[in-house]
Amino acid sequence: MNILFYGTKKYDEEFFDAILPEYPELSIHYLEANLSPETAALAAGYEAICAFVNANIGAETVEQLHRQGVKLILMRCAGYNNVDLKKTAEYGIKVARVPGYSPEAVAEHAMALALTANRHTHKAYIKCRENDFSLNGLMGVDLYKKTAGIIGTGKIGMAMARICRGFGMRVLGYDMYPNPNNDIEYVTLDELLAQSDLISLHCPLTEQTHHLINRESIAKMKDGVILVNTSRGGLVNTEELIEGIRKGKFFAVGLDVYEEENDKVYEDLSGTILQSSTMARLLSFPNVMVTSHQGFFTREALEAISRITLENAAAFEKGETLVNEVTK
Ligand code: NAD
Repeated sequence: MNILFYGTKKYDEEFFDAILPEYPELSIHYLEANLSPETAALAAGYEAICAFVNANIGAETVEQLHRQGVKLILMRCAGYNNVDLKKTAEYGIKVARVPGYSPEAVAEHAMALALTANRHTHKAYIKCRENDFSLNGLMGVDLYKKTAGIIGTGKIGMAMARICRGFGMRVLGYDMYPNPNNDIEYVTLDELLAQSDLISLHCPLTEQTHHLINRESIAKMKDGVILVNTSRGGLVNTEELIEGIRKGKFFAVGLDVYEEENDKVYEDLSGTILQSSTMARLLSFPNVMVTSHQGFFTREALEAISRITLENAAAFEKGETLVNEVTK
């Protein structure tokens, strides 16, 4: 089976090429161009395509892929909120994903963001390199004995809960589908917002969770809260977050994902004029730490992503049950 990879980076090629010889029935063609309605036509002659979080797999793209004869969309990521699943079902195109590759990779990055934004290590690094050994502007808060609120207690949320416990924090969880097997104190969303000193978002982006963090939910949070989002940008109403930051609601905010990310994520735009005023405003705040959707980016995660993606492709090729199929 021939697979066309969209939006490929050097590290994707490195990790997929390392194991491809184990799958002689599969062949890969790598494209740097990302998947969009304009590039979907390049899939002519390919039975499967492979895409990442920043691809546009809306109705128009799916229609175009269908016209080219594509039967399988391999998402080399966990999230699939960028795929129009109604359209793929309509055309009988299967969608498979990598449900859990390294929850710890994302959770560890969530804590790294919380710590960096809290203790200003990014600024301390620059200051020391400039021979400025003063501590101005670097004061943080202890996490020990504080309360962490985990929204979405799935694989990544529970990894974050373990990390927070390691810091000596009390851990609260909110989930639309609480898991009784999880060792976590479940509370309502309002209780979590009111009691948490650190709030970390780990639920998927769905119709229900879109703009879960908004003016009303921010008002319910403690003053001086630390908010971390490593899940999806659409969970947060950015304009209302900015309003909250300006009012001094947050001690720190750490964002690995943000609403406008798709046109710039994974691109080197240094030396160009930033067109997004929302991002420019976020970057202007001293207590906001932004990274570019890198939570997944560890060696272990990339090994698992390439392995599970090719397993998904091989299962489809052999007509076996697609265990990681996404249907809704
Ligand atoms: P998961 O499916 O294991 O867990 C998600 C949890 O959210 C589940 O327990 C589910 O019940 C809960 N949930 C669903 N709807 C909810 C709602 N309306 N309110 C509260 N909770 C709700 O997923 P996971 O592997 O832990 O991943 C979580 C998210 O992390 C993904 O959806 C993805 O968006 C994001 N992610 C980000 C990166 C990154 O690089 N930053 C990498 C991987 C995943």
